[in-house]
Amino acid sequence: MPLQLQFVTSAKRHVDLPTSPGEVAFVGRSNVGKSSLINALANRKQLAKVSNTPGRTQLLNIFQLPNGATVVDLPGYGYAKVPGREKAGWQRMIEDYLLDREALELVFVLVDGEIGPTKLDVQMLIWLRENGVPHTVVATKLDKVKPSKLATRKKELAKGAELDPGDVMWVSASKGTGIEELAKHVQMLLTV
Ligand code: GDP
Repeated sequence: MPLQLQFVTSAKRHVDLPTSPGEVAFVGRSNVGKSSLINALANRKQLAKVSNTPGRTQLLNIFQLPNGATVVDLPGYGYAKVPGREKAGWQRMIEDYLLDREALELVFVLVDGEIGPTKLDVQMLIWLRENGVPHTVVATKLDKVKPSKLATRKKELAKGAELDPGDVMWVSASKGTGIEELAKHVQMLLTV
């Protein structure tokens, strides 16, 4: 069953988000496939795109399930065209959210399955670990990995993220692989 997500609002700071009885968040570098994944989970073509209209990409976007629980789409990090000062602002926004958001149950850290964890992804994972923020790694774009290379790639990606291969969830938003399983996992976490 797709997640019945409705877009609620965008906010610059986590304190401006509506309160929630339970929440999960998605984070990843820009272009990792985050919008595509959220759309696939909800089985809606344009849901996360709403938030991708210019000016909204740098905000926290919140979506709600019928039971009131919420999903937050965090701004993509590492966008090359953003100047240093603005980058620091983004980082602050994301970190403040991750440290202070009471409703937050789990953060899904998206890593590009085709290219593996980037330096920024590794930094994010270390930071989450050091700060005790519960998280799960989701590798995207599974369909881009050749079947003959998949076993090796799964091992490499997990190693790069300092995880066991069994701890990484693999998805393809394009093909729908792993989407049902991830949607179930989110639903289970957000049973309030
Ligand atoms: P975001 O910046 O993280 O929100 O990334 P998008 O969802 O906009 O995706 C970035 C690019 O990757 C787009 O060109 C998507 O079409 C592509 N993409 C996203 N998910 C997949 C996938 O599962 N498979 C393939 N082959 N391409 C994908």
